[in-house]
Amino acid sequence: MTRISRLLSALLLSTSLIACAPRTEPARDATSEISAVSPIMTPGPWTGCFLPEPPPGSCGEAWGRSDSLCDPDRFLNHAAFAFAPDAPPPGFPLSAPLPVQWQIFIREDGTGDVSDEVLEERLAQVNRLFAPAGFTLATAGVNRHERPELATCRVKVTPGLVTDPNYPVCGDGAPYQLSHDPERNINAYIVDLVGPTAFALDPCIFPPGDERDGIYINRSVFEGSDKAVLAHELGHYFGLLHTFHTWRWNEPGENPVCEDADNDFVEDTLPQRSYLELRDVDCDNPPTTCPGSDQPDLLTNIMQYSACLTAENGTFTPGQLRRMQWKLATERPGLLPGS
Ligand SMILES: [Zn+2]
Repeated sequence: MTRISRLLSALLLSTSLIACAPRTEPARDATSEISAVSPIMTPGPWTGCFLPEPPPGSCGEAWGRSDSLCDPDRFLNHAAFAFAPDAPPPGFPLSAPLPVQWQIFIREDGTGDVSDEVLEERLAQVNRLFAPAGFTLATAGVNRHERPELATCRVKVTPGLVTDPNYPVCGDGAPYQLSHDPERNINAYIVDLVGPTAFALDPCIFPPGDERDGIYINRSVFEGSDKAVLAHELGHYFGLLHTFHTWRWNEPGENPVCEDADNDFVEDTLPQRSYLELRDVDCDNPPTTCPGSDQPDLLTNIMQYSACLTAENGTFTPGQLRRMQWKLATERPGLLPGS
């Protein structure tokens, strides 16, 4: 999928394993960069956001468990991303919530369901976090499938993700074959996910309406405390990169993300390391992982991997909210009221 371009973020998504790097430079100075980059979010034909082919070093190191796996973040084409405009797009706040189609795949032994009550409880938290963006979500359907052969999604990222337009993002199990109009609905797949805890697809990865589009969540996410996993995946789905994303992963230096002024194309999230490996953190006194920054890291930002993050304290920055608005308006217009 060259067009696959979009998927990554998603996949990348949540995936967990991105190695991160600290920053070495003063806090980012993105202003000049921003003025030099035209907003990418203008409506137009879909072009995708993957590189034509996986770059050397994208596989077998940071993300996967073996040489056959790749870090999907590294497939993304920097040139396909840009900062969102300062003002919100027309029509926000939206007049109606965006429709969610829950797709729950029951195991062969009959277990694995998630109750309507739990779904609504989690969705209420999501809506609280997304309200400042001027849009919310509502359940349009709860679909329970007794198709055990589709109840396990084994995520494996290989170079085929970039080159195969029909790359099976769930391996042999393909729950998305039962998708519900993915251009006009957010399909949320609840399965046994092997690999990441969850993943979602950036709007630039698959062409509009691609059946694989959506968010994929391990059912265990609904059993434990709410760590804002759903909001995190929806962040990817609406075009957010991790706060520790870097386009300079193959450059020398310990912490290339620290020098990445437009690392996530959001002005108010300073480059910072991933906290996936930084567990001994004082949540009340966030450190600064990139030298030169005069601000603490965003330990409760929803797009960081942080043990300090919960659905209660999680936040998106104003810049992230603006980016999601524009991505929704220009790259997922089928979800908008009246579309
Ligand atoms: Zn993620």
